[in-house]
Amino acid sequence: MTKMFINGQSVNALSGKVLDVLSPVDGQKFEEIPRGEKADVDLAVNAANKALDSAWGKTTALERGRLLMKLGEKVLEHHAELAALEARDTGKPMTTAKTDITVLARYFEFYGSAADKIHGLVLPFLDGYTVNVLREPLGVTAHIIPWNYPAQMLGRSIAPALAMGNAVVVKPAEDACLTPIRVAELARDVGFPDGAINIVTGLGEEAGAALSEHPGINFISFTGSNEVGVLIQKAAAKNVIKCVLELGGKSPHVVFGDADLDRAVPIITRGIIANTGQTCTAGSRLIVQKSIYPEIMDRLAKQFAQIKVGTPDMDLDCGPVVNIAQRDRVAYFLKEAEKSGIEMVAQGVLSPGLPKEGYYVTPTLLGNVPANHRCAQEEIFGPVLAAMSFDTEAEGIALANGTDFGLMAAVWTENGGRQQRVSKAIKAGQVYINAFGAGGGVELPFGGVKRSGHGREKGFLALEELSTTKTVINYHG
Ligand code: NAP
Ligand code: MG
Repeated sequence: MTKMFINGQSVNALSGKVLDVLSPVDGQKFEEIPRGEKADVDLAVNAANKALDSAWGKTTALERGRLLMKLGEKVLEHHAELAALEARDTGKPMTTAKTDITVLARYFEFYGSAADKIHGLVLPFLDGYTVNVLREPLGVTAHIIPWNYPAQMLGRSIAPALAMGNAVVVKPAEDACLTPIRVAELARDVGFPDGAINIVTGLGEEAGAALSEHPGINFISFTGSNEVGVLIQKAAAKNVIKCVLELGGKSPHVVFGDADLDRAVPIITRGIIANTGQTCTAGSRLIVQKSIYPEIMDRLAKQFAQIKVGTPDMDLDCGPVVNIAQRDRVAYFLKEAEKSGIEMVAQGVLSPGLPKEGYYVTPTLLGNVPANHRCAQEEIFGPVLAAMSFDTEAEGIALANGTDFGLMAAVWTENGGRQQRVSKAIKAGQVYINAFGAGGGVELPFGGVKRSGHGREKGFLALEELSTTKTVINYHG
């Protein structure tokens, strides 16, 4: 039994209820976590509020920075343990899990070193006045994070919040709680005071809903589905608090006839199969100029045929997806493609002998997908790449912008003018030119436009999101 973490203590749910933790490798139960509910959320929010009124609220920016840096170091000391836990819980190949833990540490390092470098302003005003704009924490910040990158999402969400002096309450996804809990324990070990970091496990509609609706919180950061994102924004509206929503995407690669395909093809492949396609920024649409469509599809087909799927320990290109719902979702979209007569250009290979009850899916390259087909419009959240073609630059841009989403995109061309025109015309929070980094850098402001959400995470902008200002106008004559 892994306990959750409230007010510096490892605790069970007040009700004593538990949830089973299933392994994506074979569908078997291997652990239990507390099924926290409203009463547990109350405890966590109260603990966070108390922390703000005591030791944690009195820390200086320098002290918070040091604590975060120490936590980054501690995560690196426990790198192997945390990577193994992350792989076990989510089914990720070990190499991916190791990278995720390195990035987790990086979030604590980045925001640890930034904590004392964000500051207020002194404004010019009328004679006899001094005006200071102070930067202040929001208070208690709620963080509802998904199961695809539990470690990275934890770091991305809470590191800037802690740097700014907020106290955090985290609701991890029920399918991926183990690493966040362990990190909270490590935070206690390096000296974070009681109540600064709280983790409540449980179901989304119970613990998650109770947290998002809690009158004692001052901000919500949410990453996940559109449907729940709308509920979160409604809950935030009721308490008149700010929320940052990161709701996924259908990110396009726009590839022009002059693109360097030797560089593009492996990056495009990686951009959809990484983490078995369960990435909000997965490059899931391939939009190719007609002149090179046959060539790029031929090259991609060869790559897809080589993709291998196995257990985390086998450490191949893809692991299983996180749960049965996700496995069924990928299967459903592949069936939809088949029903519509969409061409399956190539598929990866499941390793022989994988447990039948495991959540394995086959990476698939779909060709000539109609732009309005569900496989070209909806977030499948699996290793499925939908390819289509265009003639003119304007058509390529229209296809790229032709979904409800706007999270990330890539433009592939050697033409400098076109690089600028197309990247400016694409509606997205991040655009890569001749590159693609799913998730894309701790330092780089990140977030969506359109239905992909609003607000910015990562980089210095996250520190602004997670704080507010107070303007102090002093007349002194
Ligand atoms: P989800 O339901 O939106 O889950 C995201 C987070 O919200 C989890 O922590 C979840 O907890 C919590 N939650 C669920 N219902 C809630 C509620 N009523 N109030 C407050 N919190 C709530 O996503 P999902 O069902 O796991 O995945 C479905 C689809 O969402 C995926 O196929 C994918 O398309 C998309 N998704 C996107 C991202 C992304 O990075 N943008 C991440 C994950 C999923 P529980 O998990 O414990 O219910
Ligand atoms: Mg799990």
